[in-house]
Amino acid sequence: MTAPAATPTHCPYCSLQCGMQISRTGRAGIEIGAWPEFPVNEGALCRKGWTAAGLWGSRERLTTPLVRDRVSGELRAVGWDDALDLVAERIVELQDAHGKDAVAVFGGGGLTNEKAYQLGKFARVALGTSQIDYNGRWCMSSAASAANQAFGIDRGLPFPLADVEHADVVVLVGSNLAETMPPAARHLDRLRERGGRLVVVDPRRTPTAERADLLLQPVPGTDLALALGVLHLLDARGAVDEAYVAERTTGFDDVRRAAAAWWPERVERTTGVATDELHALVALLTGAPRVMVLTARGAEQHAQGTATVLGWIDVALALGLPGRPYAGYGCLTGQGNGQGGREHGQKADQLPGYRMIDDPAARAHVAAVWGVAPDSLPGKGRSAYELLDSLGRDDGPKALLVHGSNIVVSAPNATRVTRRLEALDLLVVCDLVMSETAALADVVLPVTQWAEETGTLTNLEGRVILRRRAVSPPEGVRGDLDVIAGLAARLGCAAPFPTDPEEVFAELGRASAGGRADYAGISYDRIARENGVFWPCPAPDHPGTPRLFADSFATPDGRARFVVPEYAGPAEPPDPAYPLHLTTGRVLAQYQSGAQTRRIRALTDDGPFVELHPMLADRIGAVDGEPILVRTRRGELRAPARVVASIRPDTVFVPFHWVGANRLTNDALDPASRMPEFKVCAAEVLVPVPEPA
Ligand code: SF4
Repeated sequence: MTAPAATPTHCPYCSLQCGMQISRTGRAGIEIGAWPEFPVNEGALCRKGWTAAGLWGSRERLTTPLVRDRVSGELRAVGWDDALDLVAERIVELQDAHGKDAVAVFGGGGLTNEKAYQLGKFARVALGTSQIDYNGRWCMSSAASAANQAFGIDRGLPFPLADVEHADVVVLVGSNLAETMPPAARHLDRLRERGGRLVVVDPRRTPTAERADLLLQPVPGTDLALALGVLHLLDARGAVDEAYVAERTTGFDDVRRAAAAWWPERVERTTGVATDELHALVALLTGAPRVMVLTARGAEQHAQGTATVLGWIDVALALGLPGRPYAGYGCLTGQGNGQGGREHGQKADQLPGYRMIDDPAARAHVAAVWGVAPDSLPGKGRSAYELLDSLGRDDGPKALLVHGSNIVVSAPNATRVTRRLEALDLLVVCDLVMSETAALADVVLPVTQWAEETGTLTNLEGRVILRRRAVSPPEGVRGDLDVIAGLAARLGCAAPFPTDPEEVFAELGRASAGGRADYAGISYDRIARENGVFWPCPAPDHPGTPRLFADSFATPDGRARFVVPEYAGPAEPPDPAYPLHLTTGRVLAQYQSGAQTRRIRALTDDGPFVELHPMLADRIGAVDGEPILVRTRRGELRAPARVVASIRPDTVFVPFHWVGANRLTNDALDPASRMPEFKVCAAEVLVPVPEPA
């Protein structure tokens, strides 16, 4: 018997988008194998990738539409036509009564480019609503905002990930990639084998920090003060690349003045990082030509996230790094399609190709592709948290359609957001499984996943990759593109909504042509032939752009912008009632809200837990493995204590993959990116009174 042919495709989870091969085994099984030729992961996968088939054929999969019975309150199975008819009727009723913005759409950073594009078009053309945003606001939006301000373009990494191993020094600010994307950590290991140095900035000594030559553990929410302290010392030591600053940037004088106030002792008082550690960091930065500064969620998920990233970009610019081979600044995007998901129109202020929705020329271009009048396109809507917080209110949407997001677990201040979802007249959720958000819905639509469908994603390097269909979906399940087309037809929309992903991608290419994220020269054939194509790629004969900024930046004058970041600190500092910092993050075995990974038996369900330092544990009488209570101004969580010396004594950590962590987090928003402050809020911990037996 010959072995079944394997289909090369990509992992369903994070932004590394590791290549993998899928084979059918027997009648019901599928097997995941290595795809060594795909350059990003060279055949390596993490535990999540190796076990990704666990949901295929699982009894947890939804296979029929469900509608909530008005009398019993239970969800009952209905046919697809009945479900879509009901949703379309309710949309028309609500829009007739309250206007077009009465219906909102919420997307996800895991959706393929085709789905994200079609969802944006559906909202603007079929629904006529301005109320669309997505969970990418939770993840990368502060780095996007900062990169757009400084460089005129937002592509997570402006160079291939493999460049990391050729740097002399890499500074990771708020990234735990050894746990969140383990195959990427081999670049750090090779860097160190070559004699390169690794610096990690993180309040926790994570598995990534264990690899570091220098670990700085600042107080959560103070990374910007650290960046300003670095700028201060670079200037004081005469280490600023004055020629680069003069030729390739504007605005340094103002940053120089702002950084002058951040002398090392002040930085130590603010961040808790000792002055000798700050000097050691600056010595590493100035001792080698090829330095990379990479930020991730630890730097970004703050009410000052944009300013914090700008501070680290200022450091990179002062050293003359962006555009230099094997050097520069980059953001390590998190979600599977965090990059592409923010480029093609599911964001409240954007149209495909990273065009801005309030730009008349952008509106005219996209409207022509869609065959509608530019004036018919709605304007800018609310950002993700503001949209969720407005649901069911007098001036807010009365209906929400959710694709690819588990809001109940992933939104900040989740109890408040859950109340807003409950206040809706209509909640429609498209999902694979009965997520916590789907469980609240009036209508649940079962959709395809990962290897059951074809589509493109754009990984953390800006490489557009093709996730191929390798297996058939369960009977009764439809793709999101079919759901969108079915609703658009029922709403009487004349514009076409194709369901073939390759056709959608070709239309996306036309809509993005001439935009900042130009995909016009990319096709499925090219992606397959070339193992991915880096945008911008404006024409079929264009080679794509693996490296940006060699000659100029994407600003009108071609120069990068220094922006002065004003330090303010966490939105909710500790006080006598809540004397600790709470920070949140990920663990190796789980992905995002855990809707998929918590259902895979091979992944240990070892959470949630509360990580705290032995000194803190001693002070409150907490015992490793025993229950502990974390309380903030918004809620509380009871979970086993994990007592570790790797965290600051003034900080506790909770992973966010389980219900409860985000009941604690703060919904303070960054003024530019509108990203919530997931990474720090004031908290207290105590040993709870035992529950009665
Ligand atoms: Fe690779 Fe990320 Fe999938 Fe792990 S979760 S296999 S690192 S893409």
